[in-house]
Amino acid sequence: MRRHDFNFKKKFGQNFLTDQNILSKITATAELSKEVNVIEIGPGIGSLTQYLLENSAEVMAFEIDKTLIPILEETLADYENFQLVAADVLKIDLNDYIKNFKNPELPIKVVANLPYYITTPILMHLIESKIPFAEFVVMMQKEVADRIAAQPNSKAYGSLSIAVQYYMDAQVAFIVPRTVFIPAPNVDSAILRMVRREKPLVEVQDEDWFFKIMHSSFVHRRKTLMNNMQAEFGKEAKPEIEKLLLAADISPSIRAEALSIPDFAKLSDALISLK
Ligand code: SAM
Repeated sequence: MRRHDFNFKKKFGQNFLTDQNILSKITATAELSKEVNVIEIGPGIGSLTQYLLENSAEVMAFEIDKTLIPILEETLADYENFQLVAADVLKIDLNDYIKNFKNPELPIKVVANLPYYITTPILMHLIESKIPFAEFVVMMQKEVADRIAAQPNSKAYGSLSIAVQYYMDAQVAFIVPRTVFIPAPNVDSAILRMVRREKPLVEVQDEDWFFKIMHSSFVHRRKTLMNNMQAEFGKEAKPEIEKLLLAADISPSIRAEALSIPDFAKLSDALISLK
């Protein structure tokens, strides 16, 4: 890094991992093989990338910081199964790139130590790309990992948990202390493993409507479902909403955090006439 005159850039969330034990634990968690393609977001100086290259068919890495490109090209020069893309992952359509894998038929896993300032936008960008990624094994701020993996009736449970768990089974694999990074961030991290479900967890009449109702149920967390629905559809809709909720056996006085994903499916289907 010194030879390339590299300076850490806080604005890109650059906290590099060099602990070999953690790097091999991340790779083991991803259960890679020579029959798996990998996408890495933010390779940094390539410490995780090297492990991924050794253990997978091919790695395609997206790095926003152009000053890291010559370092990566040097450190990973010996690998023929490496493709580096100098780009902001949020500004590109990944569908345009994945066809460039030498064997695009292989399952794709995303393995990355994500920049913390945009973890959620990156995850949503990946999910919304509709690419059937087999699995994500990603490091993020522990608090965000807890929110994604959270179950109903907990403080961490909310729209992010549901947006991800609808498509993926999410589990915190292990915790990583802040001290193993250079420079050390202000928070601890966690490796979150998300495995794509064969089909979404629930079947709903209208997916966009399901997400809209779910999001509006959480707008005022401390308020009841009825209050949040009234805020969304207006006071005059109250008697109709009450009728629909009761007919579907959903209590108007419940709070969103007590509703499971199947409950939200039932709720959004019950309110479909309000669309
Ligand atoms: N993988 C390396 C490691 O584990 O040491 C670096 C991880 S560091 C937490 C995050 C990396 O993501 C940095 O290399 C940063 O430059 C890169 N990055 C930040 N925002 C990005 C974006 N929008 N698109 C692609 N890469 C990004």
